[in-house]
Amino acid sequence: MNKLPLTKPSNLILLEEILLRLPRKHLNYGIIESEFLKVRAGYLGEKSIPYYLNILDLSNANIFHGLRLPAPNNYFQIDVLIEFDKFLLLIEVKNIKGLIKLGQHPDQMTQTINSHTKPFDDPLSQAKIQSYHLTNFLLKHKVPQKPIHTIAVFSHKEVILDLDIENPNYIRSIQLPNFITNLKNDYVSSHLLPSNEISKILLSSHSPKQYNLSNYNLTKEDLQTGVICTKCDTLPMKRINRKWSCPKCNYQSRSAHENSLKSYKILINNKISNKEAQKFLHINSTTSYKILNRYTQSKIGANRGRYYLLP
Ligand SMILES: [Zn+2]
Repeated sequence: MNKLPLTKPSNLILLEEILLRLPRKHLNYGIIESEFLKVRAGYLGEKSIPYYLNILDLSNANIFHGLRLPAPNNYFQIDVLIEFDKFLLLIEVKNIKGLIKLGQHPDQMTQTINSHTKPFDDPLSQAKIQSYHLTNFLLKHKVPQKPIHTIAVFSHKEVILDLDIENPNYIRSIQLPNFITNLKNDYVSSHLLPSNEISKILLSSHSPKQYNLSNYNLTKEDLQTGVICTKCDTLPMKRINRKWSCPKCNYQSRSAHENSLKSYKILINNKISNKEAQKFLHINSTTSYKILNRYTQSKIGANRGRYYLLP
C-alpha cells in the first residue's frame, strides 16, 4: 500500500520557476542551473522506482516516498522506505550514469564519464546514517522495533557498476523485484500485516522542507517580471485588447497571467496586492483590479492594505 506517494519536490518546482525568470547573465545562474539538474536527476531516479515495485505484490507492505523526519539537531530524508511485517527496507536511490567504482577506500565512490573521474559519497553509507537516525526515531516513539535493511539502488540506465568489494546491497533498479523477493524469504515471515503504529508515527512526523528564494541567495529583485508565454517561455507578453500576445511566437492567450500568478505564489508570496500585481504582470491598476478579482477567491485587509490570496 502506498502510504506516502512520490510527489515533485518543492525545491524542484521552485528552481524551475527561478530559471524561467533569472537573467542568464546573473552571477548565480550557473550555480542555480547545476543545482536544478542535480535535483531533477534525483527526482527522475526516484520516479523510476515505483515501476519496479509494482511488478511485485506489495499490497501487504507500506511504502513511503521521500519521508523527512526530525533527528536531534536537524532532519533526515529517506528516498524510499518499505515496511514489511518483519523488517523495514530503506532504499537510497542514486540516478547517475557512467562507470561507478567502489575501491578499497570505504565510503568513497568515483564516477567516470568520458575519462573524467570525480568522487562522490557512497550512497550505502548515506543509507546507513539514515537507518541509524530511523532506529533512534522509532525508539524515541516507543514503537515496536524491526530490523532495518539498507540498500543503494542505481537507477540510471547508463550506469556500469564496478565494485571491488562484494556487497549484495548495491544493486541496479532492474534487480529490485528479485532482490525484494529474496529478502522476504530471508526474514521468516509470519504473514502478519505491517503494524499501523509505525505507519502512523512516520506520517504524522513527516515534515517536507519548504524552500524559498533565500535558500538560493536570491531576492525577488533578481528575477524578471512580466507574463511568460505559455507556449515558448518568452517574457514579457504584451497586453493588447484584453489578450496576452507573445512578441516571439505570436501566441495569443486570455489567461496567460494565471500561470504567472502561480509563479508569483511559488517564488514570492501566497498573497499579492494590486500594486504588486501591476508591477509583476506589467498592467495598469484597473486591469490588475479586474484580473485579481476574477482569479482569486478571497482577500484580506482593505483599501491600500488589501491583499488577494492566491489560490
Ligand atoms: Zn511565445
